[in-house]
Amino acid sequence: MAELSPMMKQYTNIKKQYQDEILFYRLGDFYEMFFDDAIKASKELELTLTGRDCGQEEKAPMCGVPYHSYEAYVKRLVEKGYKVAICEQVEDPAKCKGIVKREVVRVITPGTIIETSMLDETSNNFLCCIYLNEKKKAGVCFADISTGQIYITELVDKNIQNRLMNEIGRFTPSEIIFNPRVLKCKKLTDFIKVTLNCTVDYYEEEDFALEPNTREVLNHFKKPLPDIGLDDKDTAIQCLGVLLSYVSKTQMSGLERLHTVNFYNDNQFMNLDLVARRNLELTETMRSKEKKGSLLWVLDRTKTAMGKRLIKTYLEQPLLNPALINNRLNAVQVLYQENVLLQSLTELLTHVFDMERLMTKIVYGNANAREVRALAFTSRVLPQIKQSIEGIDTIMLREIYQNIDTLEDIHDMIENAIVDDPPVNLKDGHVIRTGYNRELDELRDIVRHSKQYLTNLESSEKEKTGIKNLKIGYNKVFGYYIEVTKSNLPLVPKAYIRKQTLANCERYITEELKELESKILGANEKIVLLEQDLFEQIRKEIAAQLYRIQLTAQAVAKLDVLCSFASVSVKQGYCCPTITLGDEIIIKDGRHPVVEAVQSGSLFVANDTDLNCADRQIAVITGPNMAGKSTYMRQVALITLMAQIGCFVPAKSAQIGIVDGIYTRVGASDDLASGQSTFMVEMNEVANILRNATRKSLLILDEIGRGTSTFDGMSIARAILEYIADSKKLGAKTLFATHYHELTELEEMFDCIKNYNIAVKKRGDDIIFLRRIIPGGTDDSYGIEVSKLAGIPNEVVKRAYEILDNLENGIGINLPKNVKVKKREYNPDQFIIQNPQDNEVIKRLGEIDTNVLSPLEALNILHELKLISGKKDG
Ligand code: ADP
Ligand code: MG
Repeated sequence: MAELSPMMKQYTNIKKQYQDEILFYRLGDFYEMFFDDAIKASKELELTLTGRDCGQEEKAPMCGVPYHSYEAYVKRLVEKGYKVAICEQVEDPAKCKGIVKREVVRVITPGTIIETSMLDETSNNFLCCIYLNEKKKAGVCFADISTGQIYITELVDKNIQNRLMNEIGRFTPSEIIFNPRVLKCKKLTDFIKVTLNCTVDYYEEEDFALEPNTREVLNHFKKPLPDIGLDDKDTAIQCLGVLLSYVSKTQMSGLERLHTVNFYNDNQFMNLDLVARRNLELTETMRSKEKKGSLLWVLDRTKTAMGKRLIKTYLEQPLLNPALINNRLNAVQVLYQENVLLQSLTELLTHVFDMERLMTKIVYGNANAREVRALAFTSRVLPQIKQSIEGIDTIMLREIYQNIDTLEDIHDMIENAIVDDPPVNLKDGHVIRTGYNRELDELRDIVRHSKQYLTNLESSEKEKTGIKNLKIGYNKVFGYYIEVTKSNLPLVPKAYIRKQTLANCERYITEELKELESKILGANEKIVLLEQDLFEQIRKEIAAQLYRIQLTAQAVAKLDVLCSFASVSVKQGYCCPTITLGDEIIIKDGRHPVVEAVQSGSLFVANDTDLNCADRQIAVITGPNMAGKSTYMRQVALITLMAQIGCFVPAKSAQIGIVDGIYTRVGASDDLASGQSTFMVEMNEVANILRNATRKSLLILDEIGRGTSTFDGMSIARAILEYIADSKKLGAKTLFATHYHELTELEEMFDCIKNYNIAVKKRGDDIIFLRRIIPGGTDDSYGIEVSKLAGIPNEVVKRAYEILDNLENGIGINLPKNVKVKKREYNPDQFIIQNPQDNEVIKRLGEIDTNVLSPLEALNILHELKLISGKKDG
């Protein structure tokens, strides 16, 4: 076999180390892919597949993308779950002999993206690492490389799978690393693959060993474990260590971006499983998965990308600590009351760029001059922002005030160094301002005035020598020269050095001309290098200030969210809830924040709520379809949640005893993808609720038992209600909507159960929805009236009343007038057993013991039966 060409040899050597990745191999202005990578990528990216000579008989399959637009291509590959290794030329091709040295400088994976063009500005992008030890204790950490945040926790639980699922569901990482033990948790791995649909990498058990990972963590943070916040937290260290080594393996530089660890206890936050998050439509709607129509859509009036990410986090992590909740509420209160301040802050915040992600690019060394300028632009408004909140006496605003660094030094440095409107590409030059660096100014001066310098020299030489037609010229071989015609040769001074003789003239150079030449010719090249150098210095200086800038970014993000809460509260007329440690939820004139916002024109009917863990623990809500039961129940859940994230709530007044979790079973969210039936999904969800909820939780159960037959469904619904009502078993506050009117009789048996219904008014055959919740049950479901409203033809509605009447009077259903009853006809094709004893098929069936039958045997018997019946397959 012929030998590979030298370049292909280099390629295959590099590729050997990156088997799982698609290798982007830099060749001039392109990233090329070869062999299998090329075949895969050409399919996924719809690129033309070509071939390249590689020294062997057959050409190597190849496809490529231009280097300046590679991000879009990498994005598409990464979204499809591929990892991409970027291999660069690491020396200047012009300056090296033979083949240019190349190295992989980064591996881009779903969880390690830092390019803003590949990221959603409004969401964090988390890389997660789970380490589950043999005692069912887990360390879990989440890192957003693009913003530098690390969150880490340890979980111990009998039901560790559920706990992990909740935790992962909250952060929705795009990539997860775990140890092999996790593979045994089938529910969890299914959840990761099917529900979250994220990339998984798994490391061996020994990679998670405590000792080397402790070293990795210590090395990275360069401070002792207690200062990192990980004293005695072995599983946390084990997962963090592996995460760090994964990041360093893929990113290779800029690791210092991850410099603080937030260790949290998951009991700091309200329990909200993925089902509840989805059902309550916190960040996206159930049906269309859009932000519009979600709670986030109503509450998000943030102006910065950092604020957008933070408000989402707040929404997904309602607090449990009343002091922390009140800190937020107090700050919102001030902003709510001081409208002028709120308006001006909101305006100022619109000028703030995404400092977090800008800093990431700066630290990683791939920020361009425009991005660096964006930082200066942002720091221009920081002093005003800081000043506006000066002296405001609430804990949170004071803290924000302290943490905002106005970054004047950084602003001035950038302002002095970088031109107003720099090009994206450093190589295009004109990035550094005139006056910033003397050498650069001189070089630019030379370029700008080179012609002038040459003519100056020319005329001074003319004068000195007296040669009137002396000329300075240029050619590629000799560079600049002085040309003197034959007739003037006697006048040529000694210092002239002859370079070239032509037919009627001689060409010379002088020391002075040579110097000028090297200045002119070298200047452009030097300018590019010097500008790069200067820019690099500035970038490094800013990167060194990471900590201050990051703190400022986080403070600004918080302020942005608080302003957003205040703005929406003003606009929608929300009130400040009173937070208590008691068990009451008392709401006056509560509204559904999203429904009221969607219906902006028509009137939303407000309703009261009064729940506690004693005599009003369970509200059984009946009422016809479309009356507003589901809306009401969600409204109570959302108001409670909003209060616990520190936002005002849509009500006249609200007193919220902190709940430790909200659990929902709402509507028929058919999980068809996982192949489970509605009923199975429903029971699964209810089972989870009964297992995880506590007395301090809030339960929203909407029409339980709908997925099965009436009697089954009602029995299950009733048994569940009885279980919840029993304070020794559960005792959680519960809103329970049902169409089983029979359940209203429970009110008489249990002190803690109260009946409610949503009022409707009947006028003739029509009903009017009053949308008002009132005490007491209903015994009429108005199903037929509602069907009429929905546009069912009159004739059908009339007939339905007739049937209902018959049923209610217990006389059996009569036949509609003018209808001929169809006689049953004999169908010769139908398999009719006249005399069962004589039938061979029946006989054979009788012999089978289905308890011990394997699926394969069953199939065989089926085949046999088919033969007996004389029918053929196909
Ligand atoms: P149910 O669960 O009883 O069938 P829904 O809660 O789904 O009824 O409500 C049906 C529709 O009625 C909602 O889509 C909403 O538009 C409207 N609605 C519900 N409650 C109210 C209210 N309090 N004020 C105004 N409109 C309401
Ligand atoms: Mg409903």
